[in-house]
Amino acid sequence: MNTVTTETTEEVTSFESLGLAPELLKALTEFGYTTPTPIQAKAIPLVLDGRDLMAGAQTGTGKTAAFALPMLQKLLPLASTSASPARHPVRALILTPTRELAIQVEESVKVYAKQTPLRSLVVYGGVDIRTQTPSLMKGVEVLVATPGRLLDHVEQRTVQLGQVQMLVLDEADRMLDMGFMPDLKRILALLPKQRQNLMFSATFSNEIKKLADDFLTNPTLVEVARSNAAAENVTQKVHLVSQTDKHALLAQILRGADASQAIVFTKTKLTASRLARQLQREGILADAIHGDKSQKERIEALDAFKQGKVAALVATDVAARGLDIDQLPMVINYEMPSAPEDYVHRIGRTGRAGAFGIAISLVSPEEEKYLKEIEKLIKREIPKEPTFVAERAARPAARHERPSEKPAGRDAATYRRPERKSNDPWFDKPYEPTGEPVDKTPGAARTSKQPKREIAALLGGLGRKE
Ligand code: AMP
Repeated sequence: MNTVTTETTEEVTSFESLGLAPELLKALTEFGYTTPTPIQAKAIPLVLDGRDLMAGAQTGTGKTAAFALPMLQKLLPLASTSASPARHPVRALILTPTRELAIQVEESVKVYAKQTPLRSLVVYGGVDIRTQTPSLMKGVEVLVATPGRLLDHVEQRTVQLGQVQMLVLDEADRMLDMGFMPDLKRILALLPKQRQNLMFSATFSNEIKKLADDFLTNPTLVEVARSNAAAENVTQKVHLVSQTDKHALLAQILRGADASQAIVFTKTKLTASRLARQLQREGILADAIHGDKSQKERIEALDAFKQGKVAALVATDVAARGLDIDQLPMVINYEMPSAPEDYVHRIGRTGRAGAFGIAISLVSPEEEKYLKEIEKLIKREIPKEPTFVAERAARPAARHERPSEKPAGRDAATYRRPERKSNDPWFDKPYEPTGEPVDKTPGAARTSKQPKREIAALLGGLGRKE
């Protein structure tokens, strides 16, 4: 496999120099993009050149434009202003693992294709298939789809794939994780053999390499960051805390953050729902987003979050994949993922496009094994912030609250309050007992029945005596 790494590619400072068409450049200027991101700088010329690509890039790197721009450019000569569906066959197919990602990718394609007659459409499951059929039958050049729903349309003969000349597998690793392999194989069998294939994946497992071998032809490997690397501009912290204290600590963190928003990750849909309800009862504007919610509910929750009406969006890994939320300052791992790659994906939700982000993990003793795996993967130790949940101080402390009782193999010093001050203004702020919830959004009133919990998680760097 040919490899293009960060070192081998010179910095590209303009989209013009990548050889993009004026229609696309105009759309980019209107949208406010001035400089290509590293993945765009590397991938665009290769795709324009007709190469198959295996690209290592997470959501947040600008990967969507990296494949969508050259794709549109390659389709431009075939673009038609005719109303006839026959003049608008599906020529490019983009497969994504989740509905949310599919929607976001198609939104981007629409923006980039604004100055061209090329049409795009997104189809995904969980909604009445009949609502998608009329638009599909009108003809679209770029179809973004989740695999299952695409096959439904194939079965209903509402889509023809015989003229697909470009295929993108977006978040291929997640597609495999979600068991889409059989669907992918069925779809691949329906496509013309002569086509360009682009595969994007945040991680490079052996399975992914096998998938690449199976469906890419002499691909070029493009990496913008070390695969599995954690974002440099995200400050990562761990709070060692007992499972029973997690909720109190989470509420404190959410109230303490200066009007910031957070995605809170749980492992299961059940915990996500339960936690969102608990937080709501405590006057924190929270909502849950997971697979059991209807498509409408998920879109509404995401919109409310994007508009700042929701402070904490409690999400499962699958539901949160591909969410494109600009300037998300904080990610909180309420439950640690058992797959270390999921940690990297989770914290990739913050610190995007060069912004600064915080990723806080609440780690119970049972979850320390996951933490070790994560630290191995990201090749660094995540700083442990001493945790003290005041509400529990009078009672026998949980294991992690006693500095004398360190988990096996860990340096006891980890549990001492660090001498230095944290460089994070939020954590440096002196603790003030909360009167009312910090949430200033109208309608965020605490229910009067709900007694305010006397909790205080005193976080590291507050200058408190040992
Ligand atoms: P993606 O990784 O494709 O999900 O993109 C992440 C975010 O970066 C999206 O909000 C894009 O709109 C934005 N973005 C992508 N490319 C650029 C660029 N060249 N300049 C500025 N923002 C970009």
